[in-house]
Amino acid sequence: MNRLLFALLLAAQTTITPPDNKYSPADDVKLGLEAKAQAEKQLPIMRDDAVTSYVEGLGRRLVAVIPSNLRHPEFRYTFEVVNVREINAFALPGGPMFVNRGMIEAANTEGEVAGVMAHELSHVVLRHGTAQASKATKYEIGTIAGAVLGAIIGGNLGNIVAQGTQFGLGAAFLRFSREFERQADIEGSHIMAAAGYDPRDMANMFRTIAKQGGSGAPQWLSDHPDPGNREQYITREAQLVHVDNPVRDTRGFEQVRAHLKQLAPAPTTEQVMKNAGRGNGQPSGQNQPAPTGRVAPPSSQFRTYTEGDLFRVSVPANWRELPGNSAVTFAPDGAYGHTNGQSVFTHGVELGATRNETHDLRTATDELIASLSSGNPNLGRPSGYNNVSIAGRRGLRTTMSNRSEINGQPETIQVFTTLMRDGSVFYVIGVAPSDSFRDYQNVFQRIVGSIQLMD
Ligand SMILES: [Zn+2]
Repeated sequence: MNRLLFALLLAAQTTITPPDNKYSPADDVKLGLEAKAQAEKQLPIMRDDAVTSYVEGLGRRLVAVIPSNLRHPEFRYTFEVVNVREINAFALPGGPMFVNRGMIEAANTEGEVAGVMAHELSHVVLRHGTAQASKATKYEIGTIAGAVLGAIIGGNLGNIVAQGTQFGLGAAFLRFSREFERQADIEGSHIMAAAGYDPRDMANMFRTIAKQGGSGAPQWLSDHPDPGNREQYITREAQLVHVDNPVRDTRGFEQVRAHLKQLAPAPTTEQVMKNAGRGNGQPSGQNQPAPTGRVAPPSSQFRTYTEGDLFRVSVPANWRELPGNSAVTFAPDGAYGHTNGQSVFTHGVELGATRNETHDLRTATDELIASLSSGNPNLGRPSGYNNVSIAGRRGLRTTMSNRSEINGQPETIQVFTTLMRDGSVFYVIGVAPSDSFRDYQNVFQRIVGSIQLMD
């Protein structure tokens, strides 16, 4: 392109000046990291590499073209996907960004996802969160951080929903003035164009968000109020900017969309919060969080449990006993909780016994696996049976793939069975994310090796 023409086009773009801010970029980083840690504890973060690496790649492409006057070397841009259905996204001061799975599912093109991300990124680089806090002079920075964290961890989640803010994060950093919205739209248009996307896709996505059904106004719109004429001025800006190297290959977007269709549908935020607030046979008043996915490796120290007059077993000392109706589960913190009214776990073992009519181990094991499959359409076929010894008796072992109902991540399930003296099947079901199954396989082996049956 002709250099002079390029300069003229740049000059024609609307220039955005970051608002006054009494905080330092280092304050943005500190506040954002504190809120990020809380968000990661409270939100169902996807650990599915196909999805996260796609969003990460898209984010990196946008970060690479942040204008030099808005670059803050201290900022650390991270991109995480939240496994909830609503069309929403938010970014925290200093760089952490969270994109809902529902946003990706609702987008028609990669450019639409890029549009929302470029808008969020613009709030970050223009430091709108702390600029907003600067205006509210009665707050000191510590108070603001405390308020955000308090709302996330201490609040009654149900009340927070009723107030229409998401996880309490909205209050301090995520609700922007109309002027800041206009700035993020314009700056976002420039970043999109520099990354090869048509800024009009941002306006398209906002229209999709506005049409989002469900109860009440979409969260994204209450955090990012329309300054008025949003679509018109974005379209005008799109005509002023030159799109360098327009993105043509969006196979990545198609692949991610196809992949998401394979997973169990994302829950609504309300379902996630209800589950987070529901007890799990724990002492009343103690919240049973949804599994966080932050799980410590199994301790090499083992602890022995005796279950009535049925069996004795040793499990890693950092796993908890979670008694159920007909079975007992041992799992580490962060790996268990409730989803859709069922107790679930991402790492650990379940042990129990179930009656059967056949008294034949092979057939009884087939029936057990069939009953597991009937409640879980994502469960793969068994690998075939291996002969193993359980408590000195003949046993079977088989391995299956599954998709975690909690985070959509591939997991591996190993089932061990043997017969009790009365003909019931004694079983051990081990569950671990597929990418760390190798480590857990040995743990399951050691647990099964420790079993003593007392029938
Ligand atoms: Zn905004």
